[in-house]
Amino acid sequence: MTFSIHGLAVARGIAIGKAVLVASSRVDVAHYFIQPSQIEEELNRITQARDAVMGEVQRLHQSVPKDAPPELQALLEVHMMLLQDEMLAEGVRYWVKDRLYNAEWALTSQLEIVSRQFDDMDDAYLRERKGDLEQVVERLLRHMKGLPTSLPQPHPKKQASGSWHQDHLLDDSHDVPLVLIAHDLSPADMLQFKQSVFTGFVTDVGGKTSHTAIVARSLDIPAVVGARNASQWVKQDDWVIIDGDAGVIIVGPSPIILAEYAFKQRQAEVERERLARLRHTPAVTLDGQHIHLLANIELPEDTRLAIEMGAVGVGLFRSEFLFMNREGRLPDEEEQYLAYKRAVEGMQGLPVTIRTVDVGADKPLDRTAKDQAHLNPALGLRAIRWSLADPSMFLSQLRAILRAAAHGKVNLLIPMLGHAKEIHQTFQLLEQARQQLDKKLIPYGPLQVGAMIEIPAAALSLPLFLKHFDFLSVGTNDLIQYTLAIDRADEQVAHLYDPLHPAILQLVAQTIALGAAAGKEVALCGEMAGDPGLTRLLLGLGLRYFSMHPTQILRVKQEVLRSDTQRLAPWAQRVMHAEDPAAEMQKA
Ligand code: PEP
Ligand code: MG
Repeated sequence: MTFSIHGLAVARGIAIGKAVLVASSRVDVAHYFIQPSQIEEELNRITQARDAVMGEVQRLHQSVPKDAPPELQALLEVHMMLLQDEMLAEGVRYWVKDRLYNAEWALTSQLEIVSRQFDDMDDAYLRERKGDLEQVVERLLRHMKGLPTSLPQPHPKKQASGSWHQDHLLDDSHDVPLVLIAHDLSPADMLQFKQSVFTGFVTDVGGKTSHTAIVARSLDIPAVVGARNASQWVKQDDWVIIDGDAGVIIVGPSPIILAEYAFKQRQAEVERERLARLRHTPAVTLDGQHIHLLANIELPEDTRLAIEMGAVGVGLFRSEFLFMNREGRLPDEEEQYLAYKRAVEGMQGLPVTIRTVDVGADKPLDRTAKDQAHLNPALGLRAIRWSLADPSMFLSQLRAILRAAAHGKVNLLIPMLGHAKEIHQTFQLLEQARQQLDKKLIPYGPLQVGAMIEIPAAALSLPLFLKHFDFLSVGTNDLIQYTLAIDRADEQVAHLYDPLHPAILQLVAQTIALGAAAGKEVALCGEMAGDPGLTRLLLGLGLRYFSMHPTQILRVKQEVLRSDTQRLAPWAQRVMHAEDPAAEMQKA
């Protein structure tokens, strides 16, 4: 049966492949393919874990005190029964032997399948055994990871998805294209994707400018987020088409639909080749305005793609990605310095704007931190607030950036500033970092210092920012989130997340205009900069520095080459003041 699921389009293109479902697990699970010669070894790992966990549960069962609640005995008995369950064992053997999944992946895949069978049961008692099954699998996974296996607990709430281990995601033994379907993936998970085998992905949750979506866009593989129950509807191995342009997932497509989408895929390839010819064309408008198309990157290695796409510099290096997936051990000054230096060298003399760490909100450092995401993390200890709360960590980042500046042109960018005192503290710490390097006779280079304008308070106090900073960079992802009071990661309010809201356009236009009047560069590095549908409007509002995913540069350049900023300016003013800017835009 063919059916479709609608979500939010976040990364363009068409992917066709077999679904791989990531089961929810509270234990980080590595997913990788094994070699046929490793099947026995992998099955042994599962048997050993099962025997060890069985032994533990049996010992517990024997030592339960007489006055313990009878439910505890019963619970342990259920766990022993599940550990010996043939359906679980059979399925796991299948994933390992026939599909060459590693043991942990096989266990979570089978858990997903059996869980669904439990969900379908009429008997409430049996349905509730699903929680026990999850606990049993979790104990096995913990044992395999060498983590302490805890006592059986009353059924826990499900948590976010398993995470991805880059080393293991490389697979060259399979040629069937695979697409990944998950309830949720954190930006840290997505980062691991950079070298994965998947040709597309879908998540149930997430908004268009959630950080997960942003990383997905940088991978340039078709992706849909906010697809609500996709991970419930799609089954392991279903053939799936992901239409990243329309935000649609087609499950179990008929041969005719498959042929249609395969055709679209080829067309997209032809378009990509056509755009590639613009790589070395300077981005100059019809009326001779030079437009700076810069790259947003997450890792130093991304500079390769930035150069390939003709970026004239890095406008936003999201340094926080160096801090992720490190199980609590943050990169020290030396490690950061080497990473920033690699980025500077990678850009071959072009400028690199390094943003100081911006963690918090939907970018926890790891999944444990995500569990603490109560209250309202977007309004909490995030970005510069996080840095100023830990001066020694911040100083080591500032020293690393200063040192990297000895190797090429580096700009320092500070996220999420709002208060004059944060500005002063930042500059004091920067000075202190210089003095520390001077004292140790460590060489460093000059820095231009910029502020991100991404909270309304900053956009409404521009003279303060223009007085202290060399340049500004508008972070529209957050500016929209905070101005319109829309959580950028929440798909339930995604329809209200509107870059064309008159309030947003006015804040953006005002920042560009005041920056120009003060003779300071104003860049825009939010997702708006990489949306070719908005290029003409932003040009008309006076923007000259656009920073975006390298994969967007050529599409935006194509728009720039067709534009005349003088003719666009009055139109852009009309759009900005219209009650319905989106409708007014059509009148260009
Ligand atoms: C922004 O907020 O627009 C931005 C570029 O920063 P980030 O998306 O990393 O919050
Ligand atoms: Mg931001």
